[in-house]
Amino acid sequence: MNIQILEVVTRISDLKYVLKTLRGANNTVGLVPTMGALHEGHLRLVRQAKMENSVVVVSIFVNPTQFNNPEDLEKYPRNLSADLALLEKENVDFVFAPGNQEMYPSQMHTSISFPGLDQVLEGAFRPGHFNGVAIVISKLFHIIEPDVAYFGQKDLQQVSVIKRLVQDLHFGLDIRVVPTVRNPDGLALSSRNERLTPHQRSQALILSLTLKQAENDLRSGMEWNKVKEAIMPNFGPTADVQLEYLELVDTDTFEILTKSQANRNQALCIAAYVGGVRLIDNVILS
Ligand code: AMP
Repeated sequence: MNIQILEVVTRISDLKYVLKTLRGANNTVGLVPTMGALHEGHLRLVRQAKMENSVVVVSIFVNPTQFNNPEDLEKYPRNLSADLALLEKENVDFVFAPGNQEMYPSQMHTSISFPGLDQVLEGAFRPGHFNGVAIVISKLFHIIEPDVAYFGQKDLQQVSVIKRLVQDLHFGLDIRVVPTVRNPDGLALSSRNERLTPHQRSQALILSLTLKQAENDLRSGMEWNKVKEAIMPNFGPTADVQLEYLELVDTDTFEILTKSQANRNQALCIAAYVGGVRLIDNVILS
């Protein structure tokens, strides 16, 4: 059996040095960027990266610039020792776990925008979020120079942003998208689920149930505006779950669609608050 020693690196220069010695004609480096508090969803990305690359780097960094809500940043779950234990079991080669000072040694003077894409859904409800994502992912791509990077369908709009970033800025790497991992009851796995009480966790099921209901209604030929009306009772003003949006989008452009169009790649995207915890989910229709 091949036992891998997990190496935890916190300095950019150290990581660059070790990767330089490992990179070779037949070696590929796979990167899985995360914010830690790892669960089976993250591990699915890690396993795919392990299968497809000779060297796998998992980054763990709760990136402050992508949080528009200071309370969300403060309460974001952090558990490095548990994360490392999980990654060791997966035979990951390197964990890059830098501090804020290492990633942001000075004030940022650069911003990245994605016209159209960052003004809707997550972009609209979390101003500055995709700028922060693009900045940290660009930094990680430059530091690690991966051949392949792995992202979850769970953050579908983020996938579109990253694909555009890679194409427009010639990062020269492949992006792989891994399907959303769910609990058997349908709840999409998320680090933020850790913040839910048992009652809130059962209430949170309404997100995936609403997506299923909307998908079934659309497939049975119901018009999109009627579909939206039909799901509204799931989120009454006194309900425990407050809907932020449910939208039908073109998955390539994230244009919000007013009716289903068979010739487009479409997805349903939802965001809602369960107590103080904001959750997102989506389903790809075509
Ligand atoms: P995060 O730590 O939340 O930034 O997530 C790191 C990566 O894991 C992102 O590419 C996410 O889309 C992905 N991810 C998070 N939750 C899931 C899930 N339930 N299934 C698949 N991928 C996920």
